[in-house]
Amino acid sequence: MAGLYHGHVLEFPQIRIDCFTQSTDAKPHYIPYPLPPPEDDVNSQAGPSKQKQKAPDRSGVYRAPHAQYLLLTHAHTDHLHGLSNLHNNCTIICSENTKALLLNYERRKDRAEFDQAIKPILAQAAREHQDENWVHRRIKESGIQQKKVYQGLRAKELDRGGTPVVVDCIRTIPYNTVIPLTLSSSAGPSTVNLVMLDANHCPGSSMFLLSSPFPPYTSVLHTGDMRADEGFIQGLIRNPLVQPFLQSYPVKMRSGEGRIMKDMRLPPEAFGPGGPGIPPPPIPTDSFLANRGLSGLRRRLDRIYLDTSLLVGSVDMPSREEAIGDLIHTINAFPSDTIFHLHCWTFGYEEALKALARTFDTRIHLDRWQLQNHLLLQDDPLLQQLGTSDASPLFHACQGSDGVRGCGVIKHTRMRVVRVEFVEEHIVEHALKMKDIQRQIAFAQVGEAEWPQKFVSSRRAV
Ligand SMILES: [Zn+2]
Ligand SMILES: [Zn+2]
Repeated sequence: MAGLYHGHVLEFPQIRIDCFTQSTDAKPHYIPYPLPPPEDDVNSQAGPSKQKQKAPDRSGVYRAPHAQYLLLTHAHTDHLHGLSNLHNNCTIICSENTKALLLNYERRKDRAEFDQAIKPILAQAAREHQDENWVHRRIKESGIQQKKVYQGLRAKELDRGGTPVVVDCIRTIPYNTVIPLTLSSSAGPSTVNLVMLDANHCPGSSMFLLSSPFPPYTSVLHTGDMRADEGFIQGLIRNPLVQPFLQSYPVKMRSGEGRIMKDMRLPPEAFGPGGPGIPPPPIPTDSFLANRGLSGLRRRLDRIYLDTSLLVGSVDMPSREEAIGDLIHTINAFPSDTIFHLHCWTFGYEEALKALARTFDTRIHLDRWQLQNHLLLQDDPLLQQLGTSDASPLFHACQGSDGVRGCGVIKHTRMRVVRVEFVEEHIVEHALKMKDIQRQIAFAQVGEAEWPQKFVSSRRAV
């Protein structure tokens, strides 16, 4: 979804989200009209021929206006298209953690080259018992550079008429706070309120709620990548900045849980045997509301920008709690001298790492770049502390230069190493795989089979 409509929000086209490729005369960005079509002021920015651009063409698209705000949901690479080509005269809005992870991003090849180049310094430090400060000094003196892809977006000190001014094109905002943005157009300035919401996907991940504070009250939600589990939904229901957009108060179900109903007008028998518990309140019709006048308290989302690629069938996935429980249960069944190598190829595996660190009260070996990333996430003390550069623990999440094989201990140890991979799997598939690995372990425990060298955990655990 990152590149949908070149990132332009159709209702507020001066705002782009998660796609930052340049529009040029040779390769212009065209975007479809939302319903209802935008006012002339949007069209007037479309190109040199205003007359020609005013009317939508037959394909229902128009040339996208210049973006005034760039919003970034999170720092996974499929959401960063075009970002490395931007320069300082733009405003990127994201969370503090997304900014930190973005500015620290290194390509795998550059990571491997840097790690190779500093090997002699680390070896000398180990021989001479030098501390980290000595290592940093020696790396600096040697001129070995860490190549950060988004280095160009760091805050810069510029000379403005003899006065040094710090310019930072990345603006971080807190979650759950209304941030008014001013959009300019030929019709004059307008305001749109931005609220950033936690997306429950990876450190710093965000959803963006955009709404105009004045009639006609256009509002949209861009979810980015999110994990809509039960706890997340409950959090949204309780969020006072989201509540004006909820259709009605959540219905109390017979299970005792509040649920957002897809359609609260369903008859009671539609809730299944046993009845609905407390029947849902009737939904006021539009004509009912029109006759009574609108107070403006109740708001409506005109559009939800939602990536549905993993949505179909997602109700059949195990929950995070089940997946983590099964992961821990499986690890616990191996002999206590087993090394586990977790395939964590990018950030986004933190919840599984935290669960393992807590359960087994252990630190986890991370590679240099992973460790740097964890230390940047200052709102999560457990995450900051669980990683170590010491390769002796039994848990490793290090990925090594090829992104797969891990550190030297993993490659050369004579101990048993079990690789853990995280995959998307439906609950039935997950249950079958769990049964299979438990059967293999049971045979290994009585010496009738080799210990498995790898097993698969549900991606829902991360
Ligand atoms: Zn993502
Ligand atoms: Zn390792």
